[in-house]
Amino acid sequence: MPAARVLIDGPSELVFDYAIPDGLNVQPGCRVRIPLRNKLSQGTVLDLVEQQDDLGFALRPLHSLSDPEPLITPNLLKAGRWIASYYGCSIESVIRALLPEAVRTEDNSAKVRKTVVLENEPSPEILAKLQKRAPKQAAILSLLTHAPDKKIALADLGDGASASVKSLAKQELVRLIEEEVRRDPEADGIEEILPDSPLPLNDEQEAALKVVLESLNAPSSSTPSSPILLHGVTGSGKTEVYLQAARATLDLGKTVLVLVPEISLTPQTVRRFRARFAGIQEQVAVLHSNLSQGERFDEWHRIRKGIARIVIGARSAVFAPLPDLGLILVDEEHENTYKQDQIPRYHGRDVAVLRAALENCTIVLGSATPSLESFQNTLEGKYKLVRLAKRADGQSLPLIRVLDMRLEKQKQKGGMAILSDRLRNALEQRLLKNEQSILFLNRRGFARSLQCPSCGHVCMCPHCSVPLTYHREDERLMCHICGHQAVVPRKCPECRDPAIALQGYGTQKVEEVIAKVLPQAKIARIDADAMRKKHALRDLLNAFQARKIDVLIGTQMIAKGLHFPNVTLVGILNADIGLHVPDFRAGERVFQLLTQVAGRAGRGDLEGEVIVQTFTPHSPSVQFARHHDFDGFAEQELEFRRQFGFPPFAHCAVLTSRSTHERRAEFTLQTLHRRLTENPPPGLMIGEPMPSPLVKTHGQFRFQLMLRSAKARPMTRHVQQVLQKTTLPEDVTVVFDMDAWSF
Ligand code: ADP
Ligand code: ZN
Repeated sequence: MPAARVLIDGPSELVFDYAIPDGLNVQPGCRVRIPLRNKLSQGTVLDLVEQQDDLGFALRPLHSLSDPEPLITPNLLKAGRWIASYYGCSIESVIRALLPEAVRTEDNSAKVRKTVVLENEPSPEILAKLQKRAPKQAAILSLLTHAPDKKIALADLGDGASASVKSLAKQELVRLIEEEVRRDPEADGIEEILPDSPLPLNDEQEAALKVVLESLNAPSSSTPSSPILLHGVTGSGKTEVYLQAARATLDLGKTVLVLVPEISLTPQTVRRFRARFAGIQEQVAVLHSNLSQGERFDEWHRIRKGIARIVIGARSAVFAPLPDLGLILVDEEHENTYKQDQIPRYHGRDVAVLRAALENCTIVLGSATPSLESFQNTLEGKYKLVRLAKRADGQSLPLIRVLDMRLEKQKQKGGMAILSDRLRNALEQRLLKNEQSILFLNRRGFARSLQCPSCGHVCMCPHCSVPLTYHREDERLMCHICGHQAVVPRKCPECRDPAIALQGYGTQKVEEVIAKVLPQAKIARIDADAMRKKHALRDLLNAFQARKIDVLIGTQMIAKGLHFPNVTLVGILNADIGLHVPDFRAGERVFQLLTQVAGRAGRGDLEGEVIVQTFTPHSPSVQFARHHDFDGFAEQELEFRRQFGFPPFAHCAVLTSRSTHERRAEFTLQTLHRRLTENPPPGLMIGEPMPSPLVKTHGQFRFQLMLRSAKARPMTRHVQQVLQKTTLPEDVTVVFDMDAWSF
């Protein structure tokens, strides 16, 4: 007799075996009620195991199934185990991600609408009798006889009506109907969506779709086909390829999962799917973190029952319980928002690739600037590469001008050079022609580096080729990879200018400057501060679309997927900021940002212009982006990664300790470091413990060290073994982030 191995809900990660009562169909992935101490708890069946005979006691039987079928499919359970072992997190934390709170809690259920329907016209005698004996019932009857279709929602009959209705139902005068209603997350505020139909594809799109269809139509018995990387320049019509591939998948009777980097920022993708599948709206589900518990419950069950056959969602939607999954689309696959920054710290794109392999379905990763990880996979033959090199509307890619701000600086004599003359003129011209502009400000990260405003020199680590980070606490420069330290120079080591300074200014400052030089322009600002209010972002983007705003100033938030035909100028104010951070992906991020932001210009009939202001005009990220040369950039950047042992040639993880007591956080990490260096697996590189770039946040001090290894599993296992052997002080938290995306 097998027993059920059950993970009990709750933070303590208890796992117990229970006997299975006769006649109960218990499967892995089932939710069950089990006796624990002297009350009933809930849990998830992880496995069926053979009962051991020599236990010396009988297992307690589990109480009942919470749901007749397993809520977690076998493939998702497999994916869950993989995530737990790969990212070094508990299976409980993964199950929590697989089964959202709204689905786990028992007090959530489908919303039911109760309607009262008149079944038989009451005779005058009955009516007269009721009026005397039960005036409330009589009143309800008379309301019903006059209601359209002779029915009224129970709720509209007022408090205390249900007793009267019950009694009327007994006399067979009325009937109470209960129907499930969907709480539609998109019901409010959704503009009229105009249905659209497929566009005739151009040659490149045709070829791309063919590759996807070949994979879709491959016999299910064959080995899973490789993931497809769709590298299409901005505006090349990737979405059209997605839409037609999705249609083909539905036609095969299968379902589609669409992952977008951040649902609040991708209304356009959602809208285009809704427009294309307007005829089958109820089959499109949307999953994101702003759903209410009720909405999530409904969407989740609609998906699991196969009613919703297209799911569009952010990162966590990778766990959507779609049956018969045929196609996974990962839009903007390079985006760092796919990496979850809380436990379990999985990467949504990577889990999507794993899920596609487990489900034997087709997966397409799309981007105008593919991640080097995915691109390297195409070079190694693990992924198929498909390209869209032309814009679908026939427009050429925008002209990108690079402005050397070191020369500007001298003209403006001191002060911060925020806006060059060139960019100011360009803005004025757009204003005269009634065209729109976007000014893009790279968000200042936590890490500050030192840069000379005269020659552009940045203080770098001699060992790691990343910029040194300034630490105010002890006036030092520090390398965040290897721990190398240096004093803060008084003059620029390159040109001796004493003006070497921390870089950085914010969107507010830019808004002030623009308001001064363009007093007649209508200006709006998008950044995290300005977007605190609900719907603020949507309202502002709508206003911009309606041309009520001339100049839009923003951070990373406006770089993604937006499409405004009247925008002919994009200015990038400080292309450097993101470049000089202690992160080996810095160059890649800047290249991506410049390319994506440039893609916002000239999306309509008007030609676009992009002006990039930089103190380091010769940086490869700037130069390759300027020439729209992804391959050139990738070749050079991959060489650098290979040389210094960074991803995609190694896995890179960060171990962080956190405490309100600075000393204890530091000491704990030092202890862990010492233990990690005893008997490490071959090929594991262990960095020195050091303060995090943002040493103190929310009153907590943070220290970190970086781990690198060509092989992922031995690294995770080693760290976990050390953590298990180490008793942490009570007020210290240690976090392991596998394939980390920020440092
Ligand atoms: P991407 O997602 O690659 O940035 P989009 O899918 O947004 O590109 O396409 C850019 C524009 O080109 C859209 O306005 C789209 O309607 C249009 N478009 C796409 N494919 C075609 C096509 N085959 N013929 C005409 N226009 C197209
Ligand atoms: Zn270094």
